[in-house]
Amino acid sequence: MPDRCSIPLCKGPVPSELGAEGLCISHFAQAIEDACAGLRRETAQTAIGPDRGRAIAEFITARGTLLARAATSSERISNDTKMRILNGLLCLMNLRENLDRRPQAPGDRRGSAPA
Ligand SMILES: [Zn+2]
Repeated sequence: MPDRCSIPLCKGPVPSELGAEGLCISHFAQAIEDACAGLRRETAQTAIGPDRGRAIAEFITARGTLLARAATSSERISNDTKMRILNGLLCLMNLRENLDRRPQAPGDRRGSAPA
């Protein structure tokens, strides 16, 4: 398991929660922002089906949980990284809203997400 971030030139430590990702918290949050930007475009422009909607909802929950766990268990986090973490969470929350407001595809049943 890597203990240093896999992004070139980044020497940030990889918290144990992000061992499988091989990223420091800052780059993990950045990757979430990048992924959310693409998914937000997808949910805004396309009438996506229920399966895709569920997959995106699961992505949001999984990434958000992992980010929150890493953020609250690491010892020292710089203010810049804290901002990045908050931005990543904000992106996930906004994407979740976009997902709930998206055009309804045939056969889509809302409200079936886990409580
Ligand atoms: Zn990094």
